[in-house]
Amino acid sequence: MKIEPETYAESLAVARARALDWIRSLPTRPVAPTADVTEMERVFREPMPESPTPAPAVVDDLARDAEPGIMAMSSGRFFGWVIGGTLPAALGADWMVSAWDQNAGMRYASPAVAALERVAGEWLVDLLGLPDGSDVGFTTGATMANWTALAAARAAVLDAHGWDVNTRGLQGAPVVTVLVGAERHTSVDLALRYLGFGVPTVVESDDEGRIRIDSLRDALSQVEGPLILCLQAGNLHSGAFDPIGEAADLAHEHGGWVHVDGAFGLWAAASPTLRPRLAGLDRADSWATDAHKTLNVPYDCGVAIVSRTGAVQAALGTQTAYLIRDASEAPDPFDLVPEMSRRARGVPVYAALKQLGRSGVEELVDGLVDAARDLADALGSLPGVEVLNDVVFTQVSLAFGSDDETRAVTARLIEDGAVWMSGSSWRGRAILRVSVSNWSTDSGDVEASVAAVARALDAVRAGATVA
Ligand SMILES: *Cc1c(COP(=O)(O)O)cnc(C)c1O
Repeated sequence: MKIEPETYAESLAVARARALDWIRSLPTRPVAPTADVTEMERVFREPMPESPTPAPAVVDDLARDAEPGIMAMSSGRFFGWVIGGTLPAALGADWMVSAWDQNAGMRYASPAVAALERVAGEWLVDLLGLPDGSDVGFTTGATMANWTALAAARAAVLDAHGWDVNTRGLQGAPVVTVLVGAERHTSVDLALRYLGFGVPTVVESDDEGRIRIDSLRDALSQVEGPLILCLQAGNLHSGAFDPIGEAADLAHEHGGWVHVDGAFGLWAAASPTLRPRLAGLDRADSWATDAHKTLNVPYDCGVAIVSRTGAVQAALGTQTAYLIRDASEAPDPFDLVPEMSRRARGVPVYAALKQLGRSGVEELVDGLVDAARDLADALGSLPGVEVLNDVVFTQVSLAFGSDDETRAVTARLIEDGAVWMSGSSWRGRAILRVSVSNWSTDSGDVEASVAAVARALDAVRAGATVA
């Protein structure tokens, strides 16, 4: 096979032009895609090509043909799920990661990316106020960051009860009690399932979805043997934070390991205004977060942070002859995550933190919260609209009367296309959820979004009157 080196120049020139067209269209384009998956499959499906296509044409055609089916998730008017945009330095660094094509698993094999990821990890630990020297691993997302931290927890709590899970597995092991709040994210259940724990023991939560300390006390009084407590920083519907320090201290009295899922909410710790809501955060043993959410790096990037040095390596580390170690005592990147080979996804984190600096991260996080509050205030003052949560962070849950009305407004809004917000249900009611996680959301986006919701509401109410 013969490929001219200059083909890269042509392919990248096409990609750069198409990428810039896309990014420049974000402030004004509708958020929703105009084509669904069926239409997109029709566009792309053909028999497996028998012969080659010139590389620049492949890139150009796919970028052009895909556009109708691309949701503008990086738009300032996108408030679906919790997704986040992309900072310029992070995107540029991500392109370099692809161009370098490093296997980021080993220090010896890729000194620059190992150093960049290590520094990015140290900066994160500093920024979030977590214990110095914590181990940091870069995973695909918070699901696997939860998994990584909980794998370390599993090995540690069983080891403390005289059981080596690496050699003996789980069969016949002492029973590990895993406590979770009633409103933990479903990815925590997934991580526990992947670890062989089955369904965890649920502790009641309060109206904002925070774990209740009195219920936690009751649950702990029943526990004998190994214990893991999973807490949450940032509830999907309310944005609320569990009383982390207090809950952690209680679990520690029972010899437990305390893990915090802070996929988007951990970033509140980078804001001096919000940080008091996370009091005692540093007293947990492990944390999971997503850089692809609040920090606005491109997909994918989760972060698993564990303060008990060596605990992740004890659970996930390995040694074979061909995995050559460098001379240092430091763990290799593959010791801190489930994968061996992987993308250098910590490098865009380095770039994002370098671009923003401490003050920039603070401004980013506070800006998201301000926009969420402005949206809640403006939407909450529309007739018959209820804001169901206390807006302490980036999440706003809204209802528009009955569940049917709320669902109808949500459907109408998505059809309108100017903004995107997700439907969900919370506390037994259908809701429309607004999740602010894009650095670019500004007051113009807030105004346009309020206008779009008002339009949808008017349309639904007008329809209801006619019917
Ligand atoms: C998004 C999210 C997760 C899962 O993260 P992924 O990056 O999708 O794997 C876990 N917990 C919370 C609270 C989340 O918001």
